Amino acid sequence: MNAYKYLIVGSGMAADAAVRGIRELDADGSIGMISDETDKPYARPPLSKGMWKGRPFEKIWRGTENLNVDFHLGRTVTELDPAARRVRDSQGQEYAYEKLLLATGAAPIRLPFGDEDIIYYRTLQDYQRLRALSEQGQRFLVIGAGFIGSEIAAALSMQSKQVTMVFLENAIGERIFPPEISQFLNDAYRKKGVELIPADGVEKFEKTGSRFKVQTRSGRVIETDGVVAGLGVRPNIALAKSAGLNVENGIVVDDHLRASAPDVYAAGDVAMFPHAALGKMMRVEHEDNALKMGKQAGRNMAGADETYAHAPIFYSDMFEFGYEAVGELNSKFETVTDWQEPFQKGVIYYLDGGRVRGVLLWNVWKKTKDAAALIAEAGLFKAEDLKGKIKFE
Ligand SMILES: Cc1cc2nc3c(=O)[nH]c(=O)nc-3n(C[C@H](O)[C@H](O)[C@H](O)COP(=O)(O)OP(=O)(O)OC[C@H]3O[C@@H](n4cnc5c(N)ncnc54)[C@H](O)[C@@H]3O)c2cc1C
Repeated sequence: MNAYKYLIVGSGMAADAAVRGIRELDADGSIGMISDETDKPYARPPLSKGMWKGRPFEKIWRGTENLNVDFHLGRTVTELDPAARRVRDSQGQEYAYEKLLLATGAAPIRLPFGDEDIIYYRTLQDYQRLRALSEQGQRFLVIGAGFIGSEIAAALSMQSKQVTMVFLENAIGERIFPPEISQFLNDAYRKKGVELIPADGVEKFEKTGSRFKVQTRSGRVIETDGVVAGLGVRPNIALAKSAGLNVENGIVVDDHLRASAPDVYAAGDVAMFPHAALGKMMRVEHEDNALKMGKQAGRNMAGADETYAHAPIFYSDMFEFGYEAVGELNSKFETVTDWQEPFQKGVIYYLDGGRVRGVLLWNVWKKTKDAAALIAEAGLFKAEDLKGKIKFE
C-alpha cells in the first residue's frame, strides 16, 4: 500500500495550489496525488481563451512535478474510509494518509443524447479534440451562453469559424449581467457573425458520417462539424457523500477548510465554504478561488491553522470585452451602472437588502480589492450612493 503524509484527490488547479501551500511549510513531507485525468495539473482558463489566441501550449502546465509529488494518474478514487484514513482507487489500489485533500472539482452537466459526440468543454483533452475538429471543419454549434459557451463561441469565431449558439435564455450571460449588458452582448456577437438562437434548446441529435445534425425545440435544424456544450457544472461530491461527510451543494468545510471528518480537507470548485465578506456559505467555480483556497488548504494540512477569509474574484474574456468581478453577480439583484462609456468601460454594482453583494468591473482592471472591501461593508447602501464609489480611469 502507498502511504503518504499528504494525499490529494484531484489534479486540478486547487490540487496544484495545495501542493504549493504544503511545500511552503513542509519541504519534504511525502505527497501523493490521485486523479482520473491522465495529465498533470494545468491551467483550465486558457483552454477557452488564450490557447485560441496563440498562447504557447507549454504555458498551461503548472509544474507540480517539480515539487516532489508522486502522481497516480488515470485512476478514480472510489472509496474513502475516514476512520481508517484510507482511500481506494478504481484499480483496487489502496492509499493511507495522514491528511487528505478532496479537490475533486466539478463535472459538466450533460444532455441525455449525443454522448461521446458532444464536447463538454472542461479538460485539456476536450481542447485538443475541438482544436482537431476546428482544423478540418468550418461550422460549429455551441450549446449554452454562460461562461464556457460565450467564451468558446468567441474563440471559434475568432478562428473564422461559422458559429451558431443555441441557449435557453434570451441573451448571453443573462443570469449574471443586467439585461442591457446581455442584450449588448447579443448584438455584439451577431455583429461578429455569430448566429444566435436564444430562448431555445437542443432536442434531437444525429450523427451522419463526420457531421452532426441537431434539431432545436422550435424546429430549427443545424448541420455542423462540431458541437460544444457549456451547460454548467455540478460538484463532484459522490466520494465524500458515500464516506458520510457533510455534503450539500458541495463538500461542506469550515473557515479552516476542514471537512466533517478528522484530517480531511476540501478546496476549489467542490468546496462549500463560509464566505466571510458575504456572510454565507458559498461554492465558487472560479480560478482565483481554486488557487487561493487550495493553497490555504495545503498550508493548514501542513499545520498552519489559518482562516480562509479571501473574497474570490473571477474574470472572463469574450472578443475584445473582458471583466473582473467579485461577489455574487445575480441579475435578479438591483443593479447600478456607472459607465465611463456605455458598454465599453464601467462599474456595475449589485445591491440586495441595502448591501453590495457583487461588483462587475467591465473592462476596468486592478480594482478588485476596492470591490471586495465594498462588499465587506455592512452598508446600508442606497442605489444613488453607489455611483463613483469605485474610482476608475
Ligand atoms: C474551459 C474553462 C475555462 C475557464 N475559465 C475561467 C476564467 O476565465 N476565469 C475563472 O475565474 N475561472 C475559469 N474557469 C474555472 C476554473 O478553471 C475552475 O474554477 C478551476 O479549474 C477549479 O479547479 P479545481 O481544482 O477545484 O477543480 P477541477 O479543475 O475540476 O479539478 C478536479 C480534478 O479532480 C479530478 N477528480 C474528480 N473526482 C475524482 C475522483 N473521484 N478520483 C480521482 N480524481 C477525481 C478531476 O478529474 C480533476 O482533475 C474555467 C474553467 C474551464 C473548464
